[in-house]
Amino acid sequence: MPVTNLKTNPIVVKDLVKTFGEEANLVKAVDKICLTVEPSEILLIMGPSGSGKTTFLSMLGGLLKVDSGQILLDGEELTELSQSALANIRATKLGFVYQAFNLLEALTVKENILLPTTLIKQDRSQVIQRCVHLVNQLGLAHRLDAYPKTLSGGEKQRVAIARALINQPKVILADEPTGNLDSQSGQEVLMLLHDIARDHGVAVLIVTHDSRVEEIADRILWLEDGKIVDRKQETHNWVKDPVCGMKVDEWRASFVATVEGTRYAFCSERCQQRFMAQPKQYLD
Ligand code: ADP
Ligand code: MG
Repeated sequence: MPVTNLKTNPIVVKDLVKTFGEEANLVKAVDKICLTVEPSEILLIMGPSGSGKTTFLSMLGGLLKVDSGQILLDGEELTELSQSALANIRATKLGFVYQAFNLLEALTVKENILLPTTLIKQDRSQVIQRCVHLVNQLGLAHRLDAYPKTLSGGEKQRVAIARALINQPKVILADEPTGNLDSQSGQEVLMLLHDIARDHGVAVLIVTHDSRVEEIADRILWLEDGKIVDRKQETHNWVKDPVCGMKVDEWRASFVATVEGTRYAFCSERCQQRFMAQPKQYLD
């Protein structure tokens, strides 16, 4: 008996490979990745620049042809589908969220959100009902008639999330969704993605550099040179920023200070400076 029922897992990947270039210039961007994602799971994909994160996500999204291997999306083998079948699966089972938001500037918020609903036949009144529910959940109800250029970065990304969800996908693929946001809007967007995974039963795959995101993840996939590497515990030492209380990784923090033989790590230069001005205020 198989341990997991392949039909019900939103994503099952087997031995996925993608190379670019030839001979001396050959790059194994994705090198035999295997992965099974559960419904409602929040999976972070982390790794240095060039490690294959975008290539991997693009193949999962049916946007890039695989060299070899299998991708089962909600039980359907993506790599064997015709272009039109693939387009249909993308419209019904996948939602995309990008770093650059990719909203259409000439359309209002509401029109942007509803755009994917025109790709498939469905009951209009149910679409409108879902739209109302989503804009309320995402705090966009007062912005429905606004144009993207009048929105903040955080609002734009929330519109993109609503657009990604409107067709009730099984999977959301988000490539650096907080890359163009300040840290507070970034946190908010991540919290929303977290709530959405739970409330809508959607699996959410997020590519990110931001280690603060780790708190909301069920699992982290580390990529290096196109391969999954096991970097679970040994690469982190979580400590509290003594000034703001935020969780920071002492081993990788850019802002650290040693006072009376004890090392402290900070989320930002600002917290470090505040601490150094009056360390005693923050130590008890
Ligand atoms: P990441 O998103 O982790 O930064 P990418 O998936 O963009 O990494 O890239 C992985 C590797 O594949 C890199 O070495 C990159 O230069 C290479 N690569 C990605 N896309 C292409 C392409 N279209 N043509 C040639 N090389 C590519
Ligand atoms: Mg990338």
